[in-house]
Amino acid sequence: MPFAQPDVGDAEAEAVGEAIRSGWLTTGRLTAQFEQEFAATVGATHAVAVTSATAALHLALEAAGIGPGDEVLVPTWTFTASAEVVRYVGAEPVLVDVEPDTLALDLERAVGRVTDRTRAVIPVHFAGLPMDPVALSGFARDHGLQVVEDAAHAFPAGTGDALVGGGDSTATAFSFYATKTMTTGEGGMLTTHDDAIAARARVMRLHGIDRDVLDRYTRVGASWQYDVVAPGFKYNLTDMAAAMGRVQLGRAHDMRARREAISRRYTEAFADLPLQLPARAPDGVSHAWHLYSVRLLDAPLDRDGLVDVLGRAGIATSVHFIPLHLLSYWRERSGLRAEDFPVATDSFARVVSLPISSALTDDQVERVISTVRGALTGAGA
Ligand SMILES: *Cc1c(COP(=O)(O)O)cnc(C)c1O
Repeated sequence: MPFAQPDVGDAEAEAVGEAIRSGWLTTGRLTAQFEQEFAATVGATHAVAVTSATAALHLALEAAGIGPGDEVLVPTWTFTASAEVVRYVGAEPVLVDVEPDTLALDLERAVGRVTDRTRAVIPVHFAGLPMDPVALSGFARDHGLQVVEDAAHAFPAGTGDALVGGGDSTATAFSFYATKTMTTGEGGMLTTHDDAIAARARVMRLHGIDRDVLDRYTRVGASWQYDVVAPGFKYNLTDMAAAMGRVQLGRAHDMRARREAISRRYTEAFADLPLQLPARAPDGVSHAWHLYSVRLLDAPLDRDGLVDVLGRAGIATSVHFIPLHLLSYWRERSGLRAEDFPVATDSFARVVSLPISSALTDDQVERVISTVRGALTGAGA
């Protein structure tokens, strides 16, 4: 059983095949349609399709004017991409510990890390549980910070009229990587309400060229003309990926419902085990359930032991995350000490993510349950 089996099938294959047969492979009409549909889904004014969430985060920081001399707050409990993009623009990521329950950025601790150089914060909606948008924007307002949300786990998530990606942040970045809640193989999306941020991101995703690629190739007359206004990047999404994304977007609600059902089944089946179960969403808030990460409590075996038992039963697992302050580049760069991040350091030793793909069958879910129960109750696995 793979850890994160993509939930893709004939409809995606058919749409990609059609895109290929159309003769237009790179960014074009399908990408524009995908952007409009995605923006409408999350309630954003603009959506800019790119090759990854990493690209979206980078473009957001660049468009927000973050640069050398600036500091950006980043939770240590995340993937390295959330912090590396801060280095891309020459600024300094300042790592912050997380809340014990949600494993999301601890805003109280973050206050203590704000300096007169802090310009932005990159909150991560860990596992797909949205951070409280009111607390987040209050924190940002109090300290005059821009907010660039890392929503790589958080599609779709939030409340009906306040989905992640449709709020008042500077920008939000989504991932369509192969393991994420919807996928285009590789891909990402930047959403924002800010016209200037969207316009800059559109220019910078394609070499700093002031005209969209579709516009350049389909316009009648003078189609060769363009200007370059900055040394931009090469982050545009292909129409083949967008074709797949449109199908996945149409299925996102059902796929989320399936993951939520699996999470409920796990939570019910694990209630009596020595496990700290994932934080649940407050009433009325929808959790994307990208991950189901449990932390062992005084269990008869440790995390590596549980990973081993599951592995021998043919069940792949993963660990989210190795906190950034324990990875050599980040640790050595800022002389970070494990004891300065007590929640993340302690959680890392105990955490394991179980499969929760919407493509899992009921039988597979029950097999995960019986194997975990066997390992933790000594009932023989
Ligand atoms: C996957 C992930 C990313 C990077 O997404 P890509 O689309 O692969 O660039 C960023 N942040 C978090 C928290 C992730 O899990």
